Amino acid sequence: MRFNRLSHQILLVFVLVIIVCLGISGWYMLQISGNIVTRKISEGDQNFAGRIAQEVAAEMASVKPTLTLLAQTRGLRFMEATEVKGEIDRVQKSFPEITNIYVADVEGKQIARTGTEELESVSKIWSFQVAKGGDELVSDIYLKPVTSEPMQTITLPIMDSGAVVGVLSADISFQRVMCSVMDIDVGGNGNVVVVADNGRVVAHTHMEQVPELDLSRLSAVEAVLAGEEGTMKGYTDELGRQVLGSYTPIRELGWGVVIQRPLADIDAEVGQLRTTILWVTIAGVFLAVLAGALVARQIAKPIGQLASASERVAQGDLSTPVDVKSSNEVGVLAHSFNQMIVSLKKSRDELQQWGEELERRVHERTAELEQRSQELADTNVSLEEMSRHKSQFLANMSHELRTPLNSIIGYTKLMLDGLEGDINEEQQKDLHTVYTNSKYLLELINGLLDLSKIEAGKVVLSYQTFSISELLAGVIPSMEQLAREKGLTLTYSVAPDIDHLYADKAKTKQVLINILGNAVKFTNEGSIKLDVAESDGDFIFSVTDTGIGIKEKDLEAIFDSFRQVGPAQIAGYEGTGLGLAISKQFVEMQGGRIWADSELGKGSTFTLTLPKKRVASP
Ligand code: ADP
Repeated sequence: MRFNRLSHQILLVFVLVIIVCLGISGWYMLQISGNIVTRKISEGDQNFAGRIAQEVAAEMASVKPTLTLLAQTRGLRFMEATEVKGEIDRVQKSFPEITNIYVADVEGKQIARTGTEELESVSKIWSFQVAKGGDELVSDIYLKPVTSEPMQTITLPIMDSGAVVGVLSADISFQRVMCSVMDIDVGGNGNVVVVADNGRVVAHTHMEQVPELDLSRLSAVEAVLAGEEGTMKGYTDELGRQVLGSYTPIRELGWGVVIQRPLADIDAEVGQLRTTILWVTIAGVFLAVLAGALVARQIAKPIGQLASASERVAQGDLSTPVDVKSSNEVGVLAHSFNQMIVSLKKSRDELQQWGEELERRVHERTAELEQRSQELADTNVSLEEMSRHKSQFLANMSHELRTPLNSIIGYTKLMLDGLEGDINEEQQKDLHTVYTNSKYLLELINGLLDLSKIEAGKVVLSYQTFSISELLAGVIPSMEQLAREKGLTLTYSVAPDIDHLYADKAKTKQVLINILGNAVKFTNEGSIKLDVAESDGDFIFSVTDTGIGIKEKDLEAIFDSFRQVGPAQIAGYEGTGLGLAISKQFVEMQGGRIWADSELGKGSTFTLTLPKKRVASP
């Protein structure tokens, strides 16, 4: 038998419960076994004593009344002696216990007697004298000489009209009672004692061993002669033994029956009972272990099978189902378990298929990405190439265009100023148009040149230390001039601690001019203000105007090249759309940021930061 842990536990619980139950009941039985045996014996003995008492009573009780009746029969007085003889012979025949009867007259002369002996005088016998005095006399039990049979003599006065007219005497033998009592086997070393009303032994199982006939001092005899019925334990009997005595009175005679049993016998019987109880308990425990083992196996085996099946499943083996045949809950569990294994297997197979499919698709896709990225890389290379060519072309073109354009602007200015001779109004108007368009063209070309240089990576930062006032001196006067022309005021403020900057001075100046120039251009009335402040790591330039403002959605787009938004697209705000794009590049190249905040119709604030420490050019 294979014990797993569950079966051990079941067995343990089973055996423990049985052992505890059997132990408790066994212990209790052991405790009360003495009482049980004693009660059983005393009950039996008492029954027995009662039956003996009934028998003795039946045998003896009618003797005395019969004799009394005989003594009172008037007939005896008037009968012939022979007739009296016949009468007492008849009585003796009816009662074999009566061994002798005589009838005497008041002088003590026997009139008749049973048997064949000669009639004699009884005048000297004490019992006769007592009876003659009108009293009846029942002698003590005595042993008859030679035969030793227990005897009793009853002597009665024969009455006639209140006067004693004779005496009747009878000897009664208890031989038969004694023999029947001696034949009784109460088992073991127990004995039966029949005692007369004076405590003398009438009959005894072992008459020959009785040292003394008078047992009136024995406790059980005392009790039974007092008319009690019961059991007495632990007194010393006439043979000197500690006994259990069960007694019943023979009420008809005033006698008693006592059955006595040595305590040693009872102890032996108790011991036997205890041994039996012990063996029954041991056998019970043994059977419990056996039954427990069987039950545990019955319960634990299928559960064990389930457990090892679930271990197999946990290790991924879905091929072997659980082999449990029982139809109880465990059987149902095993059945469900097997069904679960089947669905698990199905799901696993499906999952496996999906996995393979997924892997295949991923594989295909990866190949396709790889291919695309190769194509993209190639495209990038050619795009970069093209971009570089474009920038180079633009730089060359711009350079080539700037020289003639500068001549056009210069000569137009000369003519407009009248240095080449007088011109009429029409000519002046046309020349002015040429002049402004050329300037715009130059501005555009300069912007394009800047941007293409930036894109071609040809712009190099040139850092230097310069004072803030030096920077502002190159910016403010020309801007003030522009503002004043449009009727605007331009103010500026510099935070007190700002002293020197370390940056690309020319590019910073270009950015400021561009932002201030836009502020003037897109403001029709009000003011423009430049603030120079600082934070922990940056110098912060902000230009605030009260101009036309920018829609929120356009705030980022304005930093793209060629982007003009809102009213700026409308005539009057001419521009190239390149200024902010270039400014953004110049600021970011130096590690700074530029952004705009604005409310349409109310004004704008353009802010740029420049880090206080030098950063590498990108
Ligand atoms: P532009 O030469 O047109 O001024 P910029 O790049 O400098 O080119 O500016 C781009 C556009 O940003 C302008 O056309 C105008 O729509 C808008 N903008 C720039 N500054 C302001 C300003 N201070 N107020 C309103 N709009 C502005």
